[in-house]
Amino acid sequence: MLVVWLTGIPASGKSTIAKKLYKKLVDVGIKVEILESDELRKILTPKPLYTEEERDWFYGKVIIWLAKLLYRNGIFVIIDATGHKRVYREEARREFKEKFIEVYVKCSLETAMKRDPKGLYRAALEGKIKTLPGLQVPYEEPTNPDVIVDTDIEDVDTCVRKILEHICGRELIPKEYCSKLNT
Ligand code: ADP
Repeated sequence: MLVVWLTGIPASGKSTIAKKLYKKLVDVGIKVEILESDELRKILTPKPLYTEEERDWFYGKVIIWLAKLLYRNGIFVIIDATGHKRVYREEARREFKEKFIEVYVKCSLETAMKRDPKGLYRAALEGKIKTLPGLQVPYEEPTNPDVIVDTDIEDVDTCVRKILEHICGRELIPKEYCSKLNT
């Protein structure tokens, strides 16, 4: 049906937004799956190295391939993954064309470091993690995202509403769902 990539630095709010978006869509009868990077890693790379090579494979190939399997079966796919290089998201756009939207979950590094729900920034500062995107390796901001949500200033409900308004405004999902979504 549609592939939505929520991209942003760790702790920007991707998973929180993904879950809320998921619920809204399921409640109106849409089949949805979230591809969450940490969950997938547990299965695919139980001992992740987080090297450039592994990330290129994981974001540039595996996630997009999984999204493709779901998408072609009519599923609304939410990719909840940092995907710190632009090429990963560009590859997804090449694959899904106009049925793909890139949502930039924007957040200052300062706020993300304060939130740090998974303790990743702390671990990086302690030297236990060496390649955290946004802090130790560059996070490449989207140059032309379809939607920008700013979690420094917009609450979760506002972020979800903005995403749904965009989707319905461009008629990316059937109208009958949009009338039920109350965007
Ligand atoms: P990520 O998936 O990007 O690593 P998480 O969603 O796991 O980030 O964590 C983000 C944290 O920020 C959560 O504790 C969440 O409650 C909080 N938060 C505060 N404001 C927002 C917002 N507007 N959108 C999403 N998360 C927010």
